[in-house]
Amino acid sequence: MFDVETGKVIEAIEKLGKKNPKVIFQAPEGLKLSVEKEIEKIKEYFKQKGRDVELYLWGNTCFGACDLIDNHVKNLDVDLIIHYGHEKLSYANPEIKTLFIPAYHIFEKDEKEKILNDIKNFIEKQKSEGKKVAIATTVQYKKLLRDFNPSIILGCRGEVEEGDVILFVGTGRFHPLMIAYKYQKEVFIYNPVSKCFDKISEDEINKFIKKRISAISKLMLNKPEKVGVVLSTKKGQCRKKVFNEIIKLLEENNINYITVVVDNISPEMLFYDVDCYIIVACPRIVLDDYILYKKPIYTPEEFKLFLKNSFEYKFDEIKEDDF
Ligand code: SF4
Repeated sequence: MFDVETGKVIEAIEKLGKKNPKVIFQAPEGLKLSVEKEIEKIKEYFKQKGRDVELYLWGNTCFGACDLIDNHVKNLDVDLIIHYGHEKLSYANPEIKTLFIPAYHIFEKDEKEKILNDIKNFIEKQKSEGKKVAIATTVQYKKLLRDFNPSIILGCRGEVEEGDVILFVGTGRFHPLMIAYKYQKEVFIYNPVSKCFDKISEDEINKFIKKRISAISKLMLNKPEKVGVVLSTKKGQCRKKVFNEIIKLLEENNINYITVVVDNISPEMLFYDVDCYIIVACPRIVLDDYILYKKPIYTPEEFKLFLKNSFEYKFDEIKEDDF
């Protein structure tokens, strides 16, 4: 269950002070059906008050707070966008008023107590061994863990507060693996759904890094003659500085290229006559989905490693000054 904060959404619509406000709801796939019900509920609320509202559900993607739709919905004269599942990013600013609803995970009282106790016990145990624990999580668990002051992790950015060991509270292994490699620290995982602890092993990190290094080595063995440089127009992914830097490097290294600008990057869209692609967009496209693409795909950081002949792997992280 997720907290879709109906009251907050209604308040934001009312605050617009419009007679017939137009509002569009954007949500990740996993939340779309709940948001469909929300729209019904909110419509009914305004109907009871004798007010007319135009509510739309965005049928396309909502990959992250990087994936904003203000430019897509300008023609609809929308007054407000309700964006579910994420918090606003400092470097992605919508031009239409947008309310971010993080959709915090809701737990039953006894479940919540168990989770907090498990984490407290873990911290105590580490403390008894002289180790300070840094807590990291994703936005869905931010509210649940507020007393622990957690660092919030994105798939394209992992910054964690000081600690001897890191406890990642969440589901999935990509985020903890990325921070384990980046900080070179022990990273434990606590899954609040299964209530189980786990740990990222050296072996798991090495396997992941080896796969990417092996892909980069292929470039070293066979220097590409022509590459596709793909830039996403999504506001929080459209890293123009990184894109320009890559173009400059390609020119300096006499590598021919074609630039492709798209909103959603998918395997069907990349059918050009090139040896590989550099994806200036969400790093997870390369790291999670490379297997789906016909031609090899690389992050800008990976391509730079090839040009430098280096095997010191670096995750591609999106930063404020990339834009
Ligand atoms: S760029 Fe990718 S990892 Fe980063 S917020 Fe967007 S979807 Fe998530």
